Amino acid sequence: MKIKFWGVRGSIPTPMNQAQLQGRIAAIVQRIQPSDLVSQESRDIFIAGLPAYLSEIIGGNTTCIEIRPSDDTCIIIDAGTGIRTFGNDLLKRREKIKKFHIFFTHFHMDHITGLPFFEPAYKEGTEIHFYSPQKHMEKAINEQIRLPYFPVTLDAFMAKMYFHYLKESPVNIGTAQITWRGVKHPGGCFSYKITENNKSFIFSTDTELIQRDFRRNEENTKFYKGIEFIVIDSQYTLSESIEKIDWGHSSNSLVVDFALSWDIPKIIFFHHEPKHEDMMIYKMLKTAKWYKDRVKSSRLEIGVAKEEMEIEL
Ligand SMILES: [Zn+2]
Ligand SMILES: [Zn+2]
Repeated sequence: MKIKFWGVRGSIPTPMNQAQLQGRIAAIVQRIQPSDLVSQESRDIFIAGLPAYLSEIIGGNTTCIEIRPSDDTCIIIDAGTGIRTFGNDLLKRREKIKKFHIFFTHFHMDHITGLPFFEPAYKEGTEIHFYSPQKHMEKAINEQIRLPYFPVTLDAFMAKMYFHYLKESPVNIGTAQITWRGVKHPGGCFSYKITENNKSFIFSTDTELIQRDFRRNEENTKFYKGIEFIVIDSQYTLSESIEKIDWGHSSNSLVVDFALSWDIPKIIFFHHEPKHEDMMIYKMLKTAKWYKDRVKSSRLEIGVAKEEMEIEL
């Protein structure tokens, strides 16, 4: 199965601003030596040697990930602004998908606001299947896509739409099997576990980890044990999380504790704080790596989600 990230930012779209761009240019220019400029090859080596916080962008789009099991079924989680880029990419590559399966973690604006900009929804012959364990799915979507918030309603979509309320776990979508679990977040939120060929990963955005998630009961053990990796909300630093108890998000260090407690071999930080510039997110990664190194037996791998990053499972 292939996983691709189209939106990784938390709470609100966060495009790079003028000062950030200028800061990057200044930092890059300061590093250049005359020998870096002598040939195309030396220039390429210079660029390849730049740190990720200068040569790559984390991205400002809000939550959307694409999952393609081996049968190429198209599963999407959340329709934040990243879904717009995903839809446009499909059109650009002329990939025609007839059926989309969109799972919602919850209906906060940053997780649904991209939906009316998903171009494939306006193509005839397309089907979109929406899934959520929350009963207000259809209402929540309809309420956002109408006047005075948006010029048209869902009726403008040419795609046939189907709303599926998740009750009995698991559901099979193509060759993938999906299960879910509620997490602490204002208004409720669900994490999804996607499994194919005995390999699983969990997508757990908008999650404030609490004692309940660490508890050794059957439900947790079944959900968290034996997965390959978890993509998890790590919006805050430890001090920010102390100031923002009950805001519904976790800190980088608590996420490390959580992964260690369930023997999860790899975590990917997600739902990045809009106030954090890329360098800050990499600093949080460094802090988390330092913290996990204090645990001697730990082989935990930690990474950050970036737009257009792909993972093969
Ligand atoms: Zn969110
Ligand atoms: Zn939320």
